[in-house]
Amino acid sequence: MHEDDKKLADAAREACSRAYAPYSKFHVGAALLLANGEVVTGANQENAAFPAGTCAERTAIFYAAARYPGVRFEKLAIAAWQGGDFVEEPVSPCGVCRQAILEYEKIGGKAIEIFLCGRNKVYCVDGIRTMLPLSFEEF
Ligand SMILES: [Zn+2]
Repeated sequence: MHEDDKKLADAAREACSRAYAPYSKFHVGAALLLANGEVVTGANQENAAFPAGTCAERTAIFYAAARYPGVRFEKLAIAAWQGGDFVEEPVSPCGVCRQAILEYEKIGGKAIEIFLCGRNKVYCVDGIRTMLPLSFEEF
């Protein structure tokens, strides 16, 4: 991994500490690198009414899109913490987040490099389409 990518992975790991996850106790952090150089982080935000909660990835993505409209997403790192440590296996986005990531990848016109971070290993994925075959696409 490139040094800058390691920093993005660290930002995702650090974002886990800002999760609100009293129900699942699964703290997820996401860090998004934008084409303007900004790094936007997000963490999962749960709710007693479960569907009202949001994953870390969408927290970061929607904030970035609202704060920096029209700026392409370059890279996304995702990490998770549970039971006192980062999870051993690289964590992967849920289906809803994959669909949301796809939308912004299409808008940006370029694959978003994705880093799925585990405790001691990181999977590097070249674009969300790899993780979302036969996706729903309206435009
Ligand atoms: Zn999700």
